[in-house]
Amino acid sequence: MKKLLTILAFVALIFTVTACQNNNRAAAGSNQHTKKEAKYYCTMHPSIISDKPGTCPKCGMKLVERDSVNKK
Ligand SMILES: [Zn+2]
Repeated sequence: MKKLLTILAFVALIFTVTACQNNNRAAAGSNQHTKKEAKYYCTMHPSIISDKPGTCPKCGMKLVERDSVNKK
């Protein structure tokens, strides 16, 4: 009986450790995702966004910076 309890405790410990590791990994991933913010977008197609200056693949218009629009 004592051996069974030891095994159960060991399994519970492993479950806790792996759960913590998964939580940490998910948190780090979401942080990276929110940090990577797209700054440039097409005025005609707001769904076209880029993190660096360029042109819209749909209409060829120059992508404008989101910050410059807010400053107006
Ligand atoms: Zn466009």
